[in-house]
Amino acid sequence: MLAALKQSRKALPECLPNPPVGCVIVDTQNIVAQGYTHAPGKYHAEADALRYIELQAFDYLKMYVTLEPCSFHGRTPSCALAIANDPRIHEIYVSIIDPDPRNNGQGLDILRKAGKRVHIGLCANEVGDFLHQYLFTPTQQAEPN
Ligand SMILES: [Zn+2]
Repeated sequence: MLAALKQSRKALPECLPNPPVGCVIVDTQNIVAQGYTHAPGKYHAEADALRYIELQAFDYLKMYVTLEPCSFHGRTPSCALAIANDPRIHEIYVSIIDPDPRNNGQGLDILRKAGKRVHIGLCANEVGDFLHQYLFTPTQQAEPN
């Protein structure tokens, strides 16, 4: 997760107003892909990482992502659905649940319903120190993703 946090720092400032998210995918031994949030309408962190292993076969992948994958289709397709539909990914570690009311647990539901093992809260303090200032607050207008 700390590697995902490191990735997420690369997202600034292009990702704004979307939050800077980082993602790392590992097989049994190694990091096989990494990604971060690109400019609005471009790759989210999860999609950014997945494109690097698009055509590769793996038996069991784990994904580490600093923020709950998005459940809704905004300017980009839902990351939670993309992960749910990827049979190579069996476990997802999410550091922080997305407070944006368009997501807020719905991304996790999509993953769980697809039979994925979902773990919440890994490195939440470290990730939160960086990420919290960029997350949705009720006073904001909902921004396009
Ligand atoms: Zn997304």
